[in-house]
Amino acid sequence: MSRRHLLAISAVAITAPVVNSLMSPSAHAAPGAAAATPYEQRFLDLYAKITSPGNGYFSPDGIPYHSVETLIVEAPDHGHETTSEAYSYLIWLQAMYGRVTGDWSRFNQAWETMEKYMIPTHDQQPTNSFYNASKPATYAPEWDQPSQYPARLDPGVGVGADPLAAELKSAYGTDDIYGMHWLQDVDNTYGFGGSGKTPTYINTFQRGSQESVWETVTQPCRDDFTHGGRNGYLDLFTGDNSYAKQWKYTNAPDADARAVQAAYWAHKWATAQGKQAQVAATVAKAAKMGDYLRYAMFDKYFKKVGDCVGPSGCAPGSGKNSSHYLLSWYYAWGGALDTSAGWAWRIGCSHSHGGYQNPLAAYALSSYAALTPKSATGKADWALSLKRQLEFYRWLQSAEGAIAGGATNSWQGRYATPPSGTPTFYGMYYDEKPVYHDPPSNQWFGFQAWSMERVAEYYHQTGAADAKAVLDKWVNWALANTTVAADGTYAFPSTLSWSGKPDTWNPSNPGGNAGLHVSVVDRTNDVGVAGAYARTLVYYAARSGHTRARTTAKALLDGMWTHHQDARGIAVPERRADYNRFDAGVYVPGGWTGRMPNGDAINSSSTFTSIRSFYKKDPDWPKVEAYLAGGAAPTLTYHRFWAQVDIALALGAYAELLEGTR
Ligand code: CA
Repeated sequence: MSRRHLLAISAVAITAPVVNSLMSPSAHAAPGAAAATPYEQRFLDLYAKITSPGNGYFSPDGIPYHSVETLIVEAPDHGHETTSEAYSYLIWLQAMYGRVTGDWSRFNQAWETMEKYMIPTHDQQPTNSFYNASKPATYAPEWDQPSQYPARLDPGVGVGADPLAAELKSAYGTDDIYGMHWLQDVDNTYGFGGSGKTPTYINTFQRGSQESVWETVTQPCRDDFTHGGRNGYLDLFTGDNSYAKQWKYTNAPDADARAVQAAYWAHKWATAQGKQAQVAATVAKAAKMGDYLRYAMFDKYFKKVGDCVGPSGCAPGSGKNSSHYLLSWYYAWGGALDTSAGWAWRIGCSHSHGGYQNPLAAYALSSYAALTPKSATGKADWALSLKRQLEFYRWLQSAEGAIAGGATNSWQGRYATPPSGTPTFYGMYYDEKPVYHDPPSNQWFGFQAWSMERVAEYYHQTGAADAKAVLDKWVNWALANTTVAADGTYAFPSTLSWSGKPDTWNPSNPGGNAGLHVSVVDRTNDVGVAGAYARTLVYYAARSGHTRARTTAKALLDGMWTHHQDARGIAVPERRADYNRFDAGVYVPGGWTGRMPNGDAINSSSTFTSIRSFYKKDPDWPKVEAYLAGGAAPTLTYHRFWAQVDIALALGAYAELLEGTR
């Protein structure tokens, strides 16, 4: 074991973990359960490593960290932050644990933990009752570069009406949103949560497609001007005449959809054990989450979807004509902290990425009785979304088989005019790399595996021909670019490169996308993506009988098991050349000054690390320091929570569906 493991243990092992009673690995001899099969046993062995308190995956409150290791910068900017993604994986891990052991208490507990810590309480979103659904938010343009921010609010631009608020209030008797915020500072490393270790909602990205994580200014979701500058952090992002203390949250739709997906499986598996009553209350909450998740289906400012050009030229929507019925990149909501001066806002998102779609969740919310949303139109919206998502995949499928980026209803995030000849999908514009460009959002094979895994589950459950058509082509492309050596080591695509464009979508006569191409830039043995990829192959092979998909799924699982196990799970070293950006400049407008909670100055000289000086005390900092001084790029071995769970779920799915077949 590397030095890194020992140091990370020392960082977390002192606190008395309340996770003990819930998370201890007592699964190996569950009373009344049949003896585990070999792959079920592998699931239980990995589950035991993930949930062992000494291995450091959880906070004392039972919250899964993004990773055991603290020095990590990718979507989160610190390893002991967590994401709605991690919570959704925890819920799914405990669902699979229920399938294997018959114990559903941990699944229910996982949802309760998520609900308690990652869905804002009423006090944390206190002014929703002032929300005006006929004017959901004030328009501000998105800009290409962080240096173009703050973005000036423009109340002169018409916005559409929100058709969901009234029916959600009617169904659930509250004005509050039942959805996860996406990012949390679990250990209160930044200090926005005061002096203790209270898990605290934070945010990072706010400044357009070129703002990489390295260029972000971390800010609190509850901005009461205690930290930052004279207006807290608000005037770094939004230009206005005056600023009010406020709260604001951003939902990551793929994570909420994953939580719904996990609840679907929990209910299916519990039902097979005659135990559906034990999960029914939690599954009903998942249906509620799915009801609110429809906010992700709407244009950012509820403008009409299709041919939407010009901030004022594009018409405000009414009813559902502002819905694209896809899972976009976010929805967000906020309001005043002053409960007597109330106002509140909500936005959808105009940008949809192929990697965020979840047809299994859409199927569950529209066709599976236990997950039927209570609102008047939730079920119907998800039925249309299911159809639309499958069309979206087909529209984005390259000649080779991989799925291209996505589409937007708001070109450049400001309803600009797209280049002539830009192909469309229901009037939305093809966007090669939706949402973010640094690095481009269409490069990572992990999005392919994550997204196709959901398509494969949907196909496995229904046999749907539209799903099978996409999968047949995608699986053959992926397998053709996957190698398994004689010793069991493996490699599959890592970075993808794209050229050309899809055909404009014609629902009655889809084109073949002969001009849209993908190529594989490099390959990887990444373990989390291997888990997701293996799961895709498991569900696909179990329904289709595809031999090479079945044997490759097994080869990936066996290869990881044989070659990449360590004391904490399954992991491989990663060389992080991008860590030279630890000293990259963070744009702060000239003259703007403020302080982070720990006293770090925020001004036009700030860098990523200068506003995160806690990193200089991190056990892995010397590696970064040496690199910044001209040494070699550091190599780190990470234990990401989602990755461990993706592998565990692949082992569980293989045991359920393919083990013993030939
Ligand atoms: Ca950039």
